Amino acid sequence: SGSVENKGRHVKAKAGLNRAILDQGWGMMVNMLEYKQQWRGGLLIKVNPRYTSQTCFECKHISKDNRQTQAKFECVKCGHKANADINAARNILSAGHAVLSAEGGCSKGRPLKQKTCDGREKVA
Ligand SMILES: [Zn+2]
Repeated sequence: SGSVENKGRHVKAKAGLNRAILDQGWGMMVNMLEYKQQWRGGLLIKVNPRYTSQTCFECKHISKDNRQTQAKFECVKCGHKANADINAARNILSAGHAVLSAEGGCSKGRPLKQKTCDGREKVA
């Protein structure tokens, strides 16, 4: 603890600890999502989040300037306007679909359960 004027002790070490706890928090959340989705017969696909909030869903143009504020998205190339979270969510969904079609062939039709692709788990 501390203030800007009166800094606390071990601030750097605590920042590192906080980061470690946050990292752990995300890892646990992913584990829970995976478990819940398997339990419900759903599918969890991890995608690279890079640029999902700066990419225009309509024309795929990537620019920091597309993101005018935290909430507003306006593409500097095609003029597409959207709520920034919704634009990013659509990019994430489409990245997930891309992963699915790249992995296609391990199950026909719409995969409902992750366990349809467990061939490589049996190797050990
Ligand atoms: Zn655009």
